Amino acid sequence: MSNIVALECLCGTVKGKLDVVPGSFFHVHCLCCDCQSFASHLNNGEKILDKHGGSELFQTYPAFMDISEGQDKIGCVQLGEKGLYRWHTTCCNMPLANTMSSSKIPFVGVSVKLMQFVSEEKKMETLGPVTMKAFGKYSIGEMPKDAHPKFPISYMPKILGFMLKGMFKKKYNPSPFFNGKEPVAKVNVLS
Ligand SMILES: [Zn+2]
Ligand SMILES: [Zn+2]
Repeated sequence: MSNIVALECLCGTVKGKLDVVPGSFFHVHCLCCDCQSFASHLNNGEKILDKHGGSELFQTYPAFMDISEGQDKIGCVQLGEKGLYRWHTTCCNMPLANTMSSSKIPFVGVSVKLMQFVSEEKKMETLGPVTMKAFGKYSIGEMPKDAHPKFPISYMPKILGFMLKGMFKKKYNPSPFFNGKEPVAKVNVLS
């Protein structure tokens, strides 16, 4: 029982699909300063962030995501040596997803902006509501009432369970962002 959702960047060059598997994803908002820095690096903040500076993310396993067109328009930045790999399009400067810097971690945070839905209702039906808003202390203006100032501890066991299941089932592979151990694009480390 899963739903295939089409992925497409703003200009239509990068395309793919995502398998939405119930019980294997988190639909979240991240308000952290790194997500905001990434959006300003792409020089596209107003298209990427909501009014609080939040990014809408769909966190799932890399094996559920496929990029079938425009692979040569994939870029990657890292905000400092230890940061996440933040993948983006080079055609229209939109975020694609973030991953860990290791190809062996079963985690990808896909930008919901990429996901194509015929209507808001269909989106709600497929993804359900946002279940966590994290790092509210970095909100632009007033923090949304339903946000957590940092990261809710109650989420840790869920994330841990998700990671263990992903490791066990090797859901980190295949990934649209790694060929074996190697990232598919040069990683631009920002200082
Ligand atoms: Zn963030
Ligand atoms: Zn594009």
